[in-house]
Amino acid sequence: MSVRDHMSCEEFHDMVDGYALAVLDPGELLACAQHLSLPGPHDRCLDTVNEIRDLTAELVDLLPPMAPRPAVWDGIIARMSADAERLRLERVQHQRPEATSHQGQA
Ligand SMILES: [Zn+2]
Repeated sequence: MSVRDHMSCEEFHDMVDGYALAVLDPGELLACAQHLSLPGPHDRCLDTVNEIRDLTAELVDLLPPMAPRPAVWDGIIARMSADAERLRLERVQHQRPEATSHQGQA
């Protein structure tokens, strides 16, 4: 199905799980969003999306808190350190006075 076609409510319900959880590909997400934007009548399309999202939120609340593996934290810290170093270098380069072109301008 191309993005330009308007899907039916039945087709929407075939994809509603993936749409509610935002795991469809971008074209499918767009087609579903376009379906919901149509005036209808709909076969409980938006209600179904909201029910799936509510149920998912309840399930997530039931999960016990988990500590990430140490390797996850190490990766986050390494990434942040690399970003911080890149930003520091960019700031140093910006603060260097340029040769003569902008002197005297505030
Ligand atoms: Zn519909």
